[in-house]
Amino acid sequence: VKQEGGNGYRFFTPEMNTLTAGRLEMESGLRRALEREEFVVYYQPKVDLENGVIIGAEALLRWKHPDRGLVSPGEFIPILEETGQIEQVGEWVLKTVCTQIRSWQDAAMPSLNVAVNLSGRQLQRNNLCTTIARILEETGLDPRFLELEVTESMLMHDPKYAVDMLMQIRAKGVVHIDVDDFGTGYSSLSYLKRFPIDALKLDKSFVDGLPHDEDDIAICQAVIALAHSLKLRVIAEGVESDDQLAFLRNNGCDVIQGYIVSRPLPADAFAQLVWERHQN
Ligand code: C2E
Ligand code: CA
Ligand code: CA
Ligand code: CA
Repeated sequence: VKQEGGNGYRFFTPEMNTLTAGRLEMESGLRRALEREEFVVYYQPKVDLENGVIIGAEALLRWKHPDRGLVSPGEFIPILEETGQIEQVGEWVLKTVCTQIRSWQDAAMPSLNVAVNLSGRQLQRNNLCTTIARILEETGLDPRFLELEVTESMLMHDPKYAVDMLMQIRAKGVVHIDVDDFGTGYSSLSYLKRFPIDALKLDKSFVDGLPHDEDDIAICQAVIALAHSLKLRVIAEGVESDDQLAFLRNNGCDVIQGYIVSRPLPADAFAQLVWERHQN
């Protein structure tokens, strides 16, 4: 009936056809999105739990679709990954963020690190390090202010390669590298020690259950203890409630990020928030 060969021919039900049509439309929209300047970077604050100061942000990509409004990265990043476009778009994000940090510095904003999410495909390209170095050079940004987030599963896909690549990037002066979605994959602890990383990001799925779910409590406490024993910081993501915040503070978490502080914001709104909190 069907041949799943190199062409990937398949039979589709009507629903699948609509799905495919939507998908194709999305793909072609995405292909034009860069040149039409439809991508935007939002910034979500990261707060130091010790003093309540906004120490930086995570850069989160948005697609301003002409008809559909803001499209979530959960919907389009996987497509960019599959089509390979993520390399170009990822480079655009890096460049946009480095330029933004520079302009905040020029405006004498309090010092901030901004974290960029890397995709698996970007990490696998062996020119990633050159690309980052070139962008830092072009924007004149001190590499200490650029932070990178790589997921646990990206690292464990080929740990030896990842160690090598991250070492090269670090040698360019990018010293802040965080492991994203920590706890959702399977890290080998012996490798964790070898990665030149700076922080573990406690995944939202574990933070969600705080402060009541016993499994989530155990996992969060274990991740914090593990991180600190490896001299890494812990950043909790997806913090929404006062109870979660109190738990994380009492258990020694270093940094939080979540709706309790702010949703991801356009650059100007983020800058305004930083100024407001700086004055108080
Ligand atoms: P992530 O890296 O785990 O990012 C955290 C996600 O949690 C973001 O979703 C953020 O908006 C959301 N979030 C933060 N705090 C809260 C909270 O308190 N409650 C809830 N319900 N959600 C919260 P977002 O912006 O939709 O991004 C989804 C994913 O898309 C990211 O997950 C990341 O994997 C990917 N992504 C976003 N921007 C980029 C990018 O520039 N490059 C790459 N490769 N991936 C990106
Ligand atoms: Ca992230
Ligand atoms: Ca994350
Ligand atoms: Ca996550």
